[in-house]
Amino acid sequence: MELEETVRNFLQNQDKKFSSEACVQFNEKMSRHTTFKTGGIAKVYACPQTENALTSILKFAADNKIRTFVTGGGSNIVFCDEDFNGIVINTLSMNSIRITEEEKDGFILVSTQSGAMTSAFVNWCTKNSISGMQEFAGLPGSIGGAVYMNARCFNKEISNVFYSARILKKDFTIEEIYFNSNQWEYKKSPFTDREDIILEVTFRLEKNSKTEKELAEECRHFVEERRSRGHFNFPSAGSVFKNNHEFGKPSGAIIDQCGLKGLTNGGAKVADFHGNIIINTGNATSSQIAELVRTVHDKVLEKTGFSLEPEIIFIQP
Ligand SMILES: Cc1cc2nc3c(=O)[nH]c(=O)nc-3n(C[C@H](O)[C@H](O)[C@H](O)COP(=O)(O)OP(=O)(O)OC[C@H]3O[C@@H](n4cnc5c(N)ncnc54)[C@H](O)[C@@H]3O)c2cc1C
Repeated sequence: MELEETVRNFLQNQDKKFSSEACVQFNEKMSRHTTFKTGGIAKVYACPQTENALTSILKFAADNKIRTFVTGGGSNIVFCDEDFNGIVINTLSMNSIRITEEEKDGFILVSTQSGAMTSAFVNWCTKNSISGMQEFAGLPGSIGGAVYMNARCFNKEISNVFYSARILKKDFTIEEIYFNSNQWEYKKSPFTDREDIILEVTFRLEKNSKTEKELAEECRHFVEERRSRGHFNFPSAGSVFKNNHEFGKPSGAIIDQCGLKGLTNGGAKVADFHGNIIINTGNATSSQIAELVRTVHDKVLEKTGFSLEPEIIFIQP
């Protein structure tokens, strides 16, 4: 049976409440849901509004051996141009925020569902005079995506403020994972490359150490800093390669020194303003981006002996 038919049959056998909570669409263009604005069609695209709906979709997919992929803001992925014959599950509709504990060892614990946009969470903290997240103002994408890859902004990492996460494991059990410094590295968290779904994240933050006005000013500064670096001028996924201290310089500087700024492949281009950002100049495909990433990698390797490691994630058909 075709995937669409299988999913439609499944939905027909559920109650109305489930259908409205599961928000399933068919043949959805992924270019609408990635910051690169590229990618083919997801045969099934679900935006569950509740954790129950999310779990039911995942169970149905597992029972029927249907492939799934979870996305938040789509700001760190290159989605294949070909059809994705599975279910893309988007978390953005699960985004509520709450204070979990007003006072815990001098900190305040704030929990957010993983689908909250990071910028929305930072705004919420600012409005409540809660500090610790300012550096993440202007970071595209969701909290789930930021935690998944231990996002790092202006020398601050998610691991610096992470307290715990409630996750849905592959066997459909739920577990709370607490911070353990051994499990976090530069651009790596205990959730990276695993199939667990991050449902809710709790951060350890400070209450009333700064006023709302001071926090808003700091956030504005960080967003402005990004804007002045050209981050928002073209569709992209931010940094293409991770930095590696052993190489002595940031990846962008190495790429620049190799004379690769401005290199193009179809509509994909190494940004003139930053060696480590590839932009979609208008009509790029994901394949062109992937080829350009490979070319940059190979040329840098040839000229310097350094093998740059991609940070962006390629979703295969
Ligand atoms: C202009 C621009 C600037 C950027 N600047 C920075 C920067 O300064 N620092 C930085 O670190 N990154 C940066 N990025 C990259 C990106 O924004 C971050 O990595 C972001 O946190 C990714 O979140 P997302 O929701 O978009 O993840 P997605 O791209 O949707 O997904 C990324 C990965 O996370 C997984 N994932 C997402 N949600 C969940 C979940 N709930 N449970 C389990 N897995 C999940 C996905 O399966 C995927 O593997 C930038 C990107 C852009 C476009």
